[in-house]
Amino acid sequence: MFPINHDLHCHTFLSSCSEDENQTPQAMMNHAERCGYDVIAITDHTWDADVPGASGWYRPQDIAHGRQALPLPESDRVKFLFGCETEFIGGKTLAMTREHMDLYDIVLIPTNHFHMRGFCSPSENLSLAGYHALQYARLRDALDLDLPWKKIGLAHLFSYIPEGNGDSAFRNTYLALEGAYFELFRRMAEIGVGVELNASDLPKKRLPYIVKIYGAMKAAGCRFYCGSDAHSVPAMDNIGQNLPEIVGALGLEESDRWLPQGV
Ligand SMILES: [Zn+2]
Ligand SMILES: [Zn+2]
Repeated sequence: MFPINHDLHCHTFLSSCSEDENQTPQAMMNHAERCGYDVIAITDHTWDADVPGASGWYRPQDIAHGRQALPLPESDRVKFLFGCETEFIGGKTLAMTREHMDLYDIVLIPTNHFHMRGFCSPSENLSLAGYHALQYARLRDALDLDLPWKKIGLAHLFSYIPEGNGDSAFRNTYLALEGAYFELFRRMAEIGVGVELNASDLPKKRLPYIVKIYGAMKAAGCRFYCGSDAHSVPAMDNIGQNLPEIVGALGLEESDRWLPQGV
């Protein structure tokens, strides 16, 4: 059985969107020890100051800002990785230079922060099909980058697509791109990137479609990791609350687990 005993996507109070001053690296470690996790990662939002184009929101969240979390608490039982969630808004440029990736054990790349209108998505609201086309293009373009993929996780794929007219619209717009997506999923498996099971936003009412999409990734040979995407202490519980059902529905096995290279 796939072990739900790790959290490779977790923010601390250093992320501007966290409003919980108690969400510290030590709180993460305490939670992990209590839950019997074997690996956790801190992945605060980070835009490398050497990469031009940061938004006003990202600018203060540079590498030095995130490194205030160091040194991380240590434990005999839990491995604590230092990582970040950087940004990709299309084109050829990631919000982190390739050489600065060496500072991290794991780097998460989001391709769909579409709620950041006028930055990650157009200012005007898109149709559901428009969001799907954008998600597809972003993922395709990201996978074309020359990056150390074996230490990179793709954060919350499909999570930020608005529900539009409901689940059938979600399903239909995905299905329209299904074959093209399968090619991307195969490429993801080939380069060894991790696929995130994001516990904060895999809506259960979308479970049949989530299972279809993530099941296609599994069939393509992708491997998976758990991420709470917590920004507060209580939100770290969502892995235990939300992921067993999805992992069970996908029939994931131990061999489907992804870990960053070297861990
Ligand atoms: Zn994110
Ligand atoms: Zn996040």
